[in-house]
Amino acid sequence: MAPRALIAGNWKMNMDRVSSEVLASALAQNVGSVAVDLAVCPPSVYLSPVSVVLGSSGVALGGQDCHTAQNGAHTGDVSPEMLADLGCTYVIVGHSERRTDHGESDADIRAKTTAALAAGLRAIVCVGESLAQREAGETLAVIAAQLAGSVPDADPAALVVAYEPIWAIGTGKVPTTGQIGEVHAFMRAQLRDRFGEGADAIRLLYGGSVKGANAAEIFAVNDVDGALVGGASLTAADFLPIVAALDAA
Ligand code: PEP
Repeated sequence: MAPRALIAGNWKMNMDRVSSEVLASALAQNVGSVAVDLAVCPPSVYLSPVSVVLGSSGVALGGQDCHTAQNGAHTGDVSPEMLADLGCTYVIVGHSERRTDHGESDADIRAKTTAALAAGLRAIVCVGESLAQREAGETLAVIAAQLAGSVPDADPAALVVAYEPIWAIGTGKVPTTGQIGEVHAFMRAQLRDRFGEGADAIRLLYGGSVKGANAAEIFAVNDVDGALVGGASLTAADFLPIVAALDAA
């Protein structure tokens, strides 16, 4: 059985306190009774006020990154236990912006994922190739290496994998549905090799310039169990049509 679909909004380093609360309120009030899981991942400093606004709306809260340690001398970092303490149920790990800006390796991401799951969070592990890697025909090899390196042996139900081609993030460029389908089928096969049938519980999200206008065709692709959305998660007007498209898929 296909896992329940998930849409997560990655607000990145955007919004301020008031706009975070306004957006969270709009989502909480307008999401209705959709049959998909919905999460927002605000900047860590706004998790607490957003958590208060979301209340029992059913919209889940997620962090954008976490440390591997529970606590300690790690200035500026946030532990998975702290995220859980604020009401998070998800955390994004290994986003390409973290891999690039902070030099995070597959081993770092695997350790963060393990720590996140130990804290009771679900981890959204990001993988994806650069444009140069795609043009060199290396996409599947890159994805295989990132999956093997970044995804720990763990409860598949607590794992989410987001395929985010780096060249599609924030660019308005979207792979063809054939390209998305090829990578998602490949990821499912790779994960089945490791987790057996349990791999079918791992939600495979697509991320990279998802909008209301292209969401339906992306969600119709086999093994696409939802989306990780950046830019279009910053307003309810952009985000809710994507949620509706997944709900209708
Ligand atoms: C992202 O960065 O996770 C992302 C998918 O961004 P965008 O939707 O803006 O391409």
